[in-house]
Amino acid sequence: MDTSHYRGRFAPSPTGPLHFGSLLAALGSWLLARHAGGRWLVRIEDVDRGREVAGAARDQLDTLAAFGLHPDEPVLWQSSRGERYRELLQRLLHQGLAFECSCSRSELAAAGGIHHRCVVAAPRPRPAVRLKVAAGAVLAFDDLLRGPQRQDVHAEVGDFVLLRADGCWAYQLAVVADDADQGITHVVRGADLLDSTARQILLQRALGLPTPRYLHLPLVLDADGHKLSKSMAALPLDRGDPLPALALAWKALGQPALPAAGRRTPDAMLHAMLQRFDPARLPRCNIAFASLRGPNL
Ligand code: GLU
Repeated sequence: MDTSHYRGRFAPSPTGPLHFGSLLAALGSWLLARHAGGRWLVRIEDVDRGREVAGAARDQLDTLAAFGLHPDEPVLWQSSRGERYRELLQRLLHQGLAFECSCSRSELAAAGGIHHRCVVAAPRPRPAVRLKVAAGAVLAFDDLLRGPQRQDVHAEVGDFVLLRADGCWAYQLAVVADDADQGITHVVRGADLLDSTARQILLQRALGLPTPRYLHLPLVLDADGHKLSKSMAALPLDRGDPLPALALAWKALGQPALPAAGRRTPDAMLHAMLQRFDPARLPRCNIAFASLRGPNL
């Protein structure tokens, strides 16, 4: 795979309709990919069967299409990737880099939920599998927007789960496998995932996979300073009226006002955005949703 060319992606979990925060990640990743002359992919992260909402994935794809955000390649569904995840997991197990673990959340509570060694005596019939994180595993990387980042994965996270005891693949393993296999060069996503990045880089190294560049976009916060949640009924994106939300997302990305001609259809708006997009204007801090509202929207 030629990774000299930019390949970006948007990877929603089908836990409900796309909301404004999702649009920011979708539009931000799309703009950065297009601006670099690269490709933009969509992946449905449907590994967590318990949190999946029936019909949500289809709804999310329809919403992206209504907003003019069309992937350049067929959508990848994580639910179709079990064989590949198992192969990678087996590799880690054989190399002694991962291990089966029967510890429950409550058993780890005394250690602050952080796993450094197994605390149950008897294995369970269906153990989880964790990556062994060695003492001193301190990961440093440069976020393209937020600059140098550093996490002591051993102290702050501990041995983390790759396959859950309920049989579901963990996000960390699936995302690392898919970013590598899809040849993703740039991961652009919300800052709520900044904290996962060191784990993903550690896993890439354990598997001998390349590390993409990372850029974490600001989060949009509600009036109380909380992340806008998917459960806020007021905020699912309206497929019938994409322009106001697109304009608001553009503003949240710190970009300049668009001319009237670029505000008639989603395609015209995206075209106008691409002509004006300046990555240097992307904000480094989280944004209060209320501050985006204005007379021109
Ligand atoms: N599926 C994750 C989410 O919806 C995003 C994963 C990623 O972009 O790495 O929060």
